Amino acid sequence: MPSPGWERYDVCRKCEAPAGEACLNLRRNKPTTRAHPGRRRVKLPYVPPREKGGYTDHGRFFGMLTRMVEAAGRRVRHADVSELAALVAIQDDLEQAIRDGIAGLREDGYSWKSIGEGLTPPVSGQAVYMRYGKPKAEKAS
Ligand SMILES: [Zn+2]
Repeated sequence: MPSPGWERYDVCRKCEAPAGEACLNLRRNKPTTRAHPGRRRVKLPYVPPREKGGYTDHGRFFGMLTRMVEAAGRRVRHADVSELAALVAIQDDLEQAIRDGIAGLREDGYSWKSIGEGLTPPVSGQAVYMRYGKPKAEKAS
């Protein structure tokens, strides 16, 4: 069992450890790895990962996004067509996000060539321009 997150514990009535601190082994007067039985827990306010310093790193952020998209696919497998439609609609949002990202890189001085070379697998600058450089073609309907 993992050791408890002591910040979740209120004052201990057995060893009198203050709220948020480790219980004490009363014979050795040393911190213990487990709370005394019955020690009350306090409900901590929710702190978004952003404020805890999570998702500030681009790699972790995109890892999160990838896991969320994968989870959406698994959900749709056990849902119905309207959930599938919601997932398909994200495709357009992703396309727009890519275009916004490229527009920002272009404003920062990246060439089409350098953007293409940075992709995995690398493509030519012309290929990136052809795909994302022009306003999105209206879908024929
Ligand atoms: Zn205790």
